[in-house]
Amino acid sequence: MLLSEFEIIARFFSSTPHPRKDVVLGVGDDCALLRVPPGVDLAVSIDTLVEGVHFHPGSDPERLGHKALAVNLSDLAAMGAEPAWVTLALTLPKVDIAWLTCFMRGFSTLADPHQVQLVGGDTTRGPLTISLQVQGFVPPGAALQRDGARPGDLIGVTGTLGDAALALRQIAAAQSPSDYLMTRLEQPLPRVATGLALRGLASAAIDLSDGLLADLGHICERSGVAARLELIRLPLSPEVGERVNICADWSLPLSAGDDYELCFTVPPDHRAAVEAQLSGIDGGLTWIGVIEAGRGVRCFAADGALYQSGAGGYQHFHSTD
Ligand code: ADP
Ligand code: MG
Repeated sequence: MLLSEFEIIARFFSSTPHPRKDVVLGVGDDCALLRVPPGVDLAVSIDTLVEGVHFHPGSDPERLGHKALAVNLSDLAAMGAEPAWVTLALTLPKVDIAWLTCFMRGFSTLADPHQVQLVGGDTTRGPLTISLQVQGFVPPGAALQRDGARPGDLIGVTGTLGDAALALRQIAAAQSPSDYLMTRLEQPLPRVATGLALRGLASAAIDLSDGLLADLGHICERSGVAARLELIRLPLSPEVGERVNICADWSLPLSAGDDYELCFTVPPDHRAAVEAQLSGIDGGLTWIGVIEAGRGVRCFAADGALYQSGAGGYQHFHSTD
């Protein structure tokens, strides 16, 4: 069956099971009309996934729909923002109804519990590219910015580190990752509840998309501080832990990307409150180090030796490109 662009929009993007009251006008007109509640700041972020760059050709569309939204919600989480609306620019090589059905199923399965409404977008033909913009709310002054870390603050992370990267390494080596690792790669869970709980408690936060060293490095640079990490404290799944033990190579949890966990800094006075707040939230909390005066991120092994890591985080462009 051949569908026109308008039929695609009507069939896949127009129906919203849980319309939000702050959506005055959703999909279907030249613009959406959205009513920002009084007294909040609007947090806005966009992310693009390109076939062959961010995901393998032929990737499962339901998992892609989930991941495209998850990586965007992860940015709102890292800001302490409450998700509200999303727009979707979809570039498709052809109209594939089965693909679109699965993609939107994966998308909605994550959007619905977060009460995020798809309010507009664009649909074009070309190499498969998924661009999503999310918008959320945060009270003025409450956003978790990257520039608030101070010497003495504790460094915390959610979840476990390096799972997605191990899945990618195994795929590259023609091995089949476990279901657990594939889920961590393809269906990360954005730590939205954690971000909201950290409002007023954390001094800085970032989501881990490019690897802990690089992303914590951004907090340090923006805050004008250094970080000291204790390798032995890094939260690792059994599979990543085994790899690290065999190779004494910490690059999976330190330098590989795609974790979509939160990394944040907490003044010592707020430690107990953060532990209480996060104890009942998925992803939990692990303290992995402290902020110090100085510059850069240094990692220490269990015997106190300084660990030299080779790589920084993942970058699309290098200064030599
Ligand atoms: P225009 O030509 O004015 O840009 P379009 O034909 O692109 O309008 O889109 C018509 C309506 O469908 C708009 O409300 C637009 O936001 C919505 N829309 C188009 N593509 C998508 C999509 N992939 N997801 C959600 N809404 C979409
Ligand atoms: Mg358009």
